[in-house]
Amino acid sequence: MAKQEPIGPSLLVRGARSYPPGDGSKPVDVLIRGGRIQALGDGLDPDGAEVLEADGLTVIPGLLDVHVHFRDPGLARKEGWEHGSAGALHGGVTGVIEVQNNPPLSVSREALEARIEHVRARSRVDFACLANLLPDSLPEVEAMAPLTPAFKLFLGGSTGLGGQTDRDTLRTLFAAARRAGRPVVGHCEDEDLLREGKRRYPDATAAEHHLVRSEEAEVRSIETAIALAEETGAALHVFHISTARGVEQVREARARGVAVGSSTAPHYLLLSAEDAPRLGNRMRVNPSIKTREDSAGILAGLLDGTVEAIGTDHAPHPLEEKERPYKHAPSGMPSVDLLWPLTFELVRRNLLDAETALASVSWRAAESLGILGKGRLAPGYDGDLVLFDPTAVRGVVGTELPSRSRWSAYEGMELAGFPEVVVRRGAIAFRDGAPTGEAGGAPLRLAPRLG
Ligand SMILES: [Zn+2]
Repeated sequence: MAKQEPIGPSLLVRGARSYPPGDGSKPVDVLIRGGRIQALGDGLDPDGAEVLEADGLTVIPGLLDVHVHFRDPGLARKEGWEHGSAGALHGGVTGVIEVQNNPPLSVSREALEARIEHVRARSRVDFACLANLLPDSLPEVEAMAPLTPAFKLFLGGSTGLGGQTDRDTLRTLFAAARRAGRPVVGHCEDEDLLREGKRRYPDATAAEHHLVRSEEAEVRSIETAIALAEETGAALHVFHISTARGVEQVREARARGVAVGSSTAPHYLLLSAEDAPRLGNRMRVNPSIKTREDSAGILAGLLDGTVEAIGTDHAPHPLEEKERPYKHAPSGMPSVDLLWPLTFELVRRNLLDAETALASVSWRAAESLGILGKGRLAPGYDGDLVLFDPTAVRGVVGTELPSRSRWSAYEGMELAGFPEVVVRRGAIAFRDGAPTGEAGGAPLRLAPRLG
């Protein structure tokens, strides 16, 4: 390992059990020096490092959430980095990839640099900011590429941003990302079919959101995005995949050698349209939450690696806005506060094996968007880890969550895996249900640009 300047404190986490919990789990010490993991083993010598006794707890790497909206700068009244990053720690997350979908958008190098400096001072977790891929940003794509892991493109409109429909424009945007050596991250819903859905269901309620924003809209848009990736050679990552057919399209394209990956969100795995009459606008998200068969298809995609990651698409809104009639309520739900408990729930329900579940929110999440040094308990990786008691179960109480919305679509759900301690780059960042220490995030380390 190359000699590195110490970038954080030293800590020995002693006696936590390895993951998965259960019979095969054994105690392991993790020694962090200068903010990075130096060694794992049994009976490690702290050699001057602070010691954290972790008997009875299970240790996993700090999680990477590949998709959050903290709406800051511009709309901090809905979240802001202080609240959002405290929520992230509550969910076991030590790094986030953030998508700005409210002004000021990251359409120039200057705007992106200003945003990164704004976040650096306020965040309690490490971060990367996606640049926006719009006709306006075309002259700046090359200049922004060194500062962003990927370019976010809305093929279908969602909160705050309209979708791009013109095929030539889309091709130009994909080609620009290709030249800049960064992937296109797509919000894939076909804008024309979204409009048709609104026309067809003029009196829709929240229970029909999955009909207004249909399966077909996602499927057709993924088809478009994959075709553009093939035509231009750009790498594609489909965000928040919500349909079994969409997963199948990605699987087939990967088999043909197209550089396409995908991620999903916990709500597409744990909720279905059958929950809509009960949850109303609280589960109104874009893309819509579809059927149980779709959940099963996405889980199969996680198992075979077609779907690489689970990110929350944390998209906070005040409850009073969500309680408006369907037509006037915004889409999006908060959930970064619960990323590990919700992921662990997939294991508890035998929907996903323990290794795949953890990989989807740690190393595989990091690799899916070219993030270096996060997501593994291994020497040289950032000294980020989560300690939790896998047997401690409690109900979700929205008003107790640190992010600003203070409501949850999972209200009352009995979950386990709530982090007790979170360590980021060797410093205890969260303990006893609250963040500790000062804010201050570091930009995530990015893989070299694609050739
Ligand atoms: Zn989003």
